[in-house]
Amino acid sequence: MTSYPSFIETDPQANVLNRSFKLLIDGELKSAESTFDVFNPANNEVLAQAPSGTVDHVEQAIQAAKREFRSWSALSADERAEYIAKFADALDKHKEELTTLLTLEQGKPFHSMATGEVDASIFWVREVSKRRLDVEIVEDTDEHTVEVHHSPLGVVGAITPWNFPVLLSLWKIAPCLLTGNTMVLKPSPYTPLTALFFGEIAAEVFPPGVLNVVSGGNEIGQYMTSHLDIAKISFTGSIATGQKVMASGAANLKRITLELGGNDPAIILPDANWREIVPTLFDAVFGNSGQWCIAVKRLYVHSSIHSEFVAAFAKYASTKKVGDGMDPDTDLGPIQNKMQYDKLKDLLKDTREKGYRIVLGGDIDESQKGNFVPITIVDNPPEDSRIVKEEPFGPVVPIIAFDDIDDLINRVNDTHFGLAGSVWGSDRQKAIDVAKRIEAGTVWVNEIHIHGIDIPFGGHKMSGVGVENGSEGLKEFTNTKTYMFHK
Ligand code: NAD
Repeated sequence: MTSYPSFIETDPQANVLNRSFKLLIDGELKSAESTFDVFNPANNEVLAQAPSGTVDHVEQAIQAAKREFRSWSALSADERAEYIAKFADALDKHKEELTTLLTLEQGKPFHSMATGEVDASIFWVREVSKRRLDVEIVEDTDEHTVEVHHSPLGVVGAITPWNFPVLLSLWKIAPCLLTGNTMVLKPSPYTPLTALFFGEIAAEVFPPGVLNVVSGGNEIGQYMTSHLDIAKISFTGSIATGQKVMASGAANLKRITLELGGNDPAIILPDANWREIVPTLFDAVFGNSGQWCIAVKRLYVHSSIHSEFVAAFAKYASTKKVGDGMDPDTDLGPIQNKMQYDKLKDLLKDTREKGYRIVLGGDIDESQKGNFVPITIVDNPPEDSRIVKEEPFGPVVPIIAFDDIDDLINRVNDTHFGLAGSVWGSDRQKAIDVAKRIEAGTVWVNEIHIHGIDIPFGGHKMSGVGVENGSEGLKEFTNTKTYMFHK
């Protein structure tokens, strides 16, 4: 029996599932002819029905967004910001319902990860509304003035994954609308409910057509990526789908931002205060049950401390509980969907068959109703093993020993991924020198997973194209437009 937070038990009206989820198209909440099941990954029971948006629905949404672009882009940034700040306030009023829905459809613990995701998302929307892209005067001579402006693109298609369905959608919505674009958002079919829910909230705030939310299968995402009236696709998801988005977007030379997968290394140097950082590293590896693009997916520990570190890390990890995200005692929730659960099963089978040393976990109890994968630590598998080379996207990590730093850097960088990485050591400058050699979009030293409104985030190599956040992220929702005025 799932236990719900007290506000739901005491207020049946607040039961977030007691509603019919609708598409948001041109300011109207609409049903579709058919629906699809959304499952609770903690028990694999059907949680709710989501509307199966069709290509026709997407077309209506695109045309509404195209029409509304004229008046939305004609508003000043301050006027648009006012709507966005109101949206943040409206989300805030519904944050417990949003958090509950997030846990129910995604699995992450209500009291930690889900609350954190929703709080951070609302903060993000509010803060982004305060940002502006100023006109830059790059020349001002006796003859002329040259001004660089940033004009909106038009209709943006946003396509999001299932691991952070609230945060990753709002990371796109706020800067996209602030810079004067309109949007059609397509959430993952595994986790559409939170986006449909905040679509309802958005319907009360924005003029019709500014933000549209259409749930449905991959085919509607595909339709968006080749549509001539969509100027840009902002995509977060897997590398395989990112490649399709890029190919398809060639139809009208779309602008694209791709935030894709990672296989992030954390390097623990011999002088690191490693005992102190075990809890931080545990969260960095296993937060959101490892279903995180920037989760640490390879832990490289100097051989002088490797075996002690493995023992301490496994001991700490063994105190953590995997379970239903609605249970306040749960530290890690289930894997969000069966597809990912099966991938993890296969990876663990390979790890066992190859005879690698599993120091914790490794065996999935398939008699459980939910998609639960135990916290799994693999000691020193070979560099070319699947567990090291692939992105597990689950609570599974290899801890690999190293001796020589040059050899380590070659191993760390010998990958198509380049999302993020971290280095840990007492000699700060030495750690920074190592960090500078990691080929990735973000590298932390003696801290990890810090994000900020003004901090650009994006992957190198096949982990992405372009960035989100920061003024660079805002600019990706614009065209550079240069004016030259003769004096
Ligand atoms: P996915 O690529 O399977 O799906 C992402 C979205 O794309 C979904 O909405 C899906 O319906 C849609 N889609 C599928 N096929 C499509 C197509 N042909 N055209 C257009 N849209 C299509 O990814 P996922 O499994 O939902 O997410 C997990 C992946 O996302 C992991 O690899 C993870 O590392 C990555 N991710 C990256 C970041 C980042 O910021 N770099 C953040 C979170 C997740």
